[in-house]
Amino acid sequence: MKKVYLDNASTTQIRTEVVTEMARVLSEDFGNPSSTHSFGRNSKNLIELSRKSIAKNLNCSAQEIIFTSCATEANNFIIQSCIKDLHVTRIITSKIEHHAVLHTIQILQNQNKIAVDYVNILPSGDIDVVHLSDLLSVEGKTLVSLMHVNNEIGTVLNLERIVKICKQYNAYFHTDTVQSIGKTPFNLQESSIDFLVASAHKFHGPKGVGFAFIRKGIVLTPLLLGGEQEKGLRAGTESVHNIVGMSKALELSYSTLAEEEKYITELKDYTVSQLLAHFPEVKFNGKPTETFYNILNVILPFSEDKTSMILFNLDMKGIAVSRGSACQSGSIKPSHVLAEILDAEDLKKPSLRISFSHYNTKEDIDYLIENLKLI
Ligand code: PLP
Repeated sequence: MKKVYLDNASTTQIRTEVVTEMARVLSEDFGNPSSTHSFGRNSKNLIELSRKSIAKNLNCSAQEIIFTSCATEANNFIIQSCIKDLHVTRIITSKIEHHAVLHTIQILQNQNKIAVDYVNILPSGDIDVVHLSDLLSVEGKTLVSLMHVNNEIGTVLNLERIVKICKQYNAYFHTDTVQSIGKTPFNLQESSIDFLVASAHKFHGPKGVGFAFIRKGIVLTPLLLGGEQEKGLRAGTESVHNIVGMSKALELSYSTLAEEEKYITELKDYTVSQLLAHFPEVKFNGKPTETFYNILNVILPFSEDKTSMILFNLDMKGIAVSRGSACQSGSIKPSHVLAEILDAEDLKKPSLRISFSHYNTKEDIDYLIENLKLI
């Protein structure tokens, strides 16, 4: 059966060059990086070379990169340590953050560790910047945590504008950059972002590895206690093959960025034009020309009785996309992101998230449209 993968915001296909590199490390470089003999030193060296390469790609210093098991861990580490070590008493965030941030903050609030303010979301899915300034004008040691690219609708936060406002009010700024690292350039030396996070599997690297960027001068204590790995900031034997794979994947993503971004943008434009041609009443969550180039979230003009069957029917045809609203996946809860921006009527309709990579083709899109028409 033909297989079409259009769920690249969930995870991406690993690049073959990354697999080759990882397989070599797995079979040859098995030393424990904490061991002082040559096997251990060799593994340690691979980790430090990977750290340097990642730092170079983001224009920051290697000591600012801390390896973790995933972005969820990195988000938890930063948010929890900000309260513990930087004496943050209030977090300003939004209701459209990924659960790795949203649930963490809600649990800390329930434990009475912090006060939480939610910045308003505009109908476009963008942050209300005026409201953010209002919230920041209230005294208190504050962390602002706002994601760069929304994983469901693809809205893009103007990071430099937000960081400027945060610094004006002396607030720390953390951003979940899981959907944008490796897909858009970062120059962290030129920026005042305090913390960001990444997960390798979102940029054609392996699962089970990520990193936190913690700006030089900010001193945090670890979430995971034990050994002295990662300068005592993250105990546990490092996953050497995963770290090397992540660094290779990031290097490849940045070396091919311009051509892949152009290719994917054209594919997204093609999808929009085909959807409009075949389903004139289609609507988009977030303006397709303004949302991130690899994410398209669409409300299909299908009747409610067809809603529950869409994902299932597409899956039967080998097509992987993601839900945008509840009913299709059998879940009773609507998407917390769409619930913030859609009215009750549109929330009932089937929204689909189509997310692209350079591995997709126009034929994939034609196959998707053809099968949507059969529903
Ligand atoms: N943040 C965002 C925006 C995401 O899209 C995801 C994954 O879907 C995560 C965090 C969590 O990443 P991981 O599951 O790799 O920790």
